[in-house]
Amino acid sequence: MKTGYPLSAIATITTPYKQKFAIPRQPNLAEANGQIHFIDGFDNPLMLKGLEKYSHLWLLFIFHETLDRGWKPAVKAPRLGGNSTLGVFASRSTHRPNGIGMSVVKNAGAAINNGHLQLNVSGVDLLDQTPIIDIKPYIGYADSHPDAIDGLAELAPIPSRQVNFTATAQAQLHQVSQRFADIEALIIAVLRQDPRPAYRQSQETDPKIYKVKLYDVDVAWRVINGEVQVLELL
Ligand code: SAM
Repeated sequence: MKTGYPLSAIATITTPYKQKFAIPRQPNLAEANGQIHFIDGFDNPLMLKGLEKYSHLWLLFIFHETLDRGWKPAVKAPRLGGNSTLGVFASRSTHRPNGIGMSVVKNAGAAINNGHLQLNVSGVDLLDQTPIIDIKPYIGYADSHPDAIDGLAELAPIPSRQVNFTATAQAQLHQVSQRFADIEALIIAVLRQDPRPAYRQSQETDPKIYKVKLYDVDVAWRVINGEVQVLELL
């Protein structure tokens, strides 16, 4: 039986997420915008004909940042507190046999930018410059299952913490918002999910100062009295 099938990227996506840390664990948990740039040979508006009729799209992509770490049959599951394991096929782990990810995102429309085709999307959970291998329309009658059972959802609900800005951060936010209009909403959406490692998430006050890079901005924050406090935007 033939087992090798070549795959190649058709596009790359630009996103505000410059590092893996703090990217939401699934799409649509934050309204992060992405711009898909097509590689030569796929830079053809005909390939998107009719796509405007769909509000949501499937992006298939390569977990390129973690590909060289290989995969294991069982993976640590953050939703089980990070200590227990699940079978790789019972998880959405990035460490999988073919390193392929899949996300449903909102279709924000195609455009021609500097003579090149660009497809805009939102709600992404992809690292900046992730290679895209395919795009498909999301078809509600087949892809949506409101009665589907997600047996682990109850165990690890997505945290929803209050996010506050110090006076310093507030002033810096004002400046940075001139360049990135959506950055305040993005910071809040990302940090309210408490991206600390699972074993730290029960600590209501944590002395550690964390940093996350969104666009070109380093956001310093900590958790204090159960709330996320944004300290500085650098
Ligand atoms: N929605 C996708 C899926 O189910 O296949 C991805 C789920 S995966 C649990 C989400 C995580 O993938 C993000 O939190 C981020 O840390 C990681 N990630 C996103 N883009 C990546 C990339 N290009 N390479 C490696 N990891 C990536």
